[in-house]
Amino acid sequence: MSLCALCGREARGFGYCHRLRWDRYPFYRFCSMRCLDAAAALAQRMHGMIDKTALEKQAIKDARRYFAEALTELGLMAPFYDRKAEEIDRLIEACIDGFQESMQRQATEKRVQEDELSDPLPF
Ligand SMILES: [Zn+2]
Repeated sequence: MSLCALCGREARGFGYCHRLRWDRYPFYRFCSMRCLDAAAALAQRMHGMIDKTALEKQAIKDARRYFAEALTELGLMAPFYDRKAEEIDRLIEACIDGFQESMQRQATEKRVQEDELSDPLPF
C-alpha cells in the first residue's frame, strides 16, 4: 500500500509525473482524481515538485473552522473559546500527525490489530 502524496490517505491508482518526464521529475501517487488534479495544478506552479509546506500551513488554518464546528456541535466550545490560534493549531496538528503516522505504519506493517487491543486510551 502506498499513500496519497497530497493528503496522506491510501493511494488508489492515480499517478502524476510532471510532463511525463520520468527522468527529470518525481512520480507521485494519489487517492483520488481530486487530489491528483490539485497536485497537478500545484506542480505546474512549482516546476514539477509538490512542496506541501505552504499548503499544510494554510490547511491547518482552514481546519480551524471545522474544528470549531465540531466543538460547537458537541457543546465544547466554551473551554476553547479564549485559546490562542496557535494552541488550536497544536490540537489540529496532533490529530494530523497521529493520522499520518498511523497511515504510514499501516502501509509498512500488517500487524496493527495487536496495538489496537492493548491501547490504553479510553476513547
Ligand atoms: Zn489524497
